[in-house]
Amino acid sequence: MDRRIYGIETEFGLTHSAPQGRALSADDAARRLFAPVLAWGRASNVFLPNGGRLYLDVGSHPEYATAEAATLHDVVAQDAAGERIVDDLRAQLQRTLDEEGVGGTVHLFKNNVDSAGNSFGSHENYMISRRTEFARLVQHLLPFLVTRQILVGAGRVHPTGQPPFGALTPGDGSPSYSFSQRADHIWEGSSSATTRSRPMINTRDEPHADAQHYRRLHVITGDSSMSQTTTALKIGTTDLLLRMIEAGQILPDRTLADPATALRVVSHDLTGTAALELANGERRSALELQHEYLDAVTRFVARHGAHHDRVDRVLDLWERGLRAVAEQDASLVDRELDWAIKKKLLDSYAASHDMDYSHPRMVQLDLAYHDTSATHGLFHMLERRGAVESFVSPEDVSRALVEAPGTRASLRGRFVAAAHDAGVNHTVDWVHLKLNGEHQQRTIMCKDPFATTQQDVEDVIRDITRGDV
Ligand code: ATP
Ligand code: MG
Ligand code: MG
Repeated sequence: MDRRIYGIETEFGLTHSAPQGRALSADDAARRLFAPVLAWGRASNVFLPNGGRLYLDVGSHPEYATAEAATLHDVVAQDAAGERIVDDLRAQLQRTLDEEGVGGTVHLFKNNVDSAGNSFGSHENYMISRRTEFARLVQHLLPFLVTRQILVGAGRVHPTGQPPFGALTPGDGSPSYSFSQRADHIWEGSSSATTRSRPMINTRDEPHADAQHYRRLHVITGDSSMSQTTTALKIGTTDLLLRMIEAGQILPDRTLADPATALRVVSHDLTGTAALELANGERRSALELQHEYLDAVTRFVARHGAHHDRVDRVLDLWERGLRAVAEQDASLVDRELDWAIKKKLLDSYAASHDMDYSHPRMVQLDLAYHDTSATHGLFHMLERRGAVESFVSPEDVSRALVEAPGTRASLRGRFVAAAHDAGVNHTVDWVHLKLNGEHQQRTIMCKDPFATTQQDVEDVIRDITRGDV
């Protein structure tokens, strides 16, 4: 496929701490966080004028799903905008609690683990062609997903050493750092149940598009990214690999003997050299496998041409990210990749305060890196200081707060905005726009995610604006 649809879903962590008073439970905090959403859209599950979806599912993790984007630039901008939208809710709740005299501090985190050891997700969505044999695609994708953490992991402090997992790598109790947050919580390769068995790819077949032609690849193993360049590398490399697989490129079989264990081994091995056992009995390290993918993709791009203007940047960062691990020189990527940006911050704090990763302060700093607040969050502090690279401009992010990408999301966004302004009852999902007017009930289907114009949508928006519904 030459064109692709991308979307990122992010579950956020939410806490209220009140040293003096009574802290809200996670459920209460989430419910109160969504009060303005409920007031705006009469539901805690809404689609916004920028085409994205904001909702509170079971549990207490607010979730933002970006609108469908057709470019790397747009998916990064939409993801950053989503963080801002949920963080605005956090700031509103903070003001309300201050006014009520409840006080305390509300924290919102874009990360994947809470202090009780629970894990929550970040999902990547890639539209793929139905023609590609799914089993083959998964076969080639899994070893890539297992090893890409050495580039796009969010980094995590383990004050008492890595958790024990199997006989292969018993934890020795000394404080450590891993590439990934989510790796310790994933149990198997691919499955249709997201929460029970914690797979890497969710095979539930829900394309949100014409099922005859398309499928939605639902990757649920990744870490959320604070850094825009990390998001871009995560989506950009995966997209390139998919392109190669979809083009029918012959790739060597690198099926791992035990993907879930390999995921944890790779996460906890900062050298990238630990030997992973393949199903065919051979052994490869994460670095070796990633180099194979990078070489194959580079050759593929040289032969077929770059399909967008950021391919060079993706390939450059991919190569540098691997070199940083191979040469044990994180400074090569410590303005771009989350695990390295955070590690630099932690290392410099540890050095100036004469402490190591076993100190409780390190876990607090790790968490504070993911705090979405522009004033308290450590990643955002670095951003303000110009210590990290961006991928889109602040103006692009501001625009993405209110404007949908150039996909069918723009139809949805305009429909939602018009219906909302006119106070007309409506229900929307990724494919359907439903008008529940007094005189008109209409359901419009938008099967083509790339379509930015559709006559029946224009007609209904016109009727809504005229008050003709
Ligand atoms: P769950 O929350 O249980 O994982 P889900 O993945 O079906 O459910 P959403 O949270 O609504 O649902 O997120 C759907 C994501 O899929 C969004 O980010 C959206 O942009 C993206 N998306 C929508 N249509 C397509 C498509 N045709 N191909 C790929 N991605 C799509
Ligand atoms: Mg979701
Ligand atoms: Mg999902």
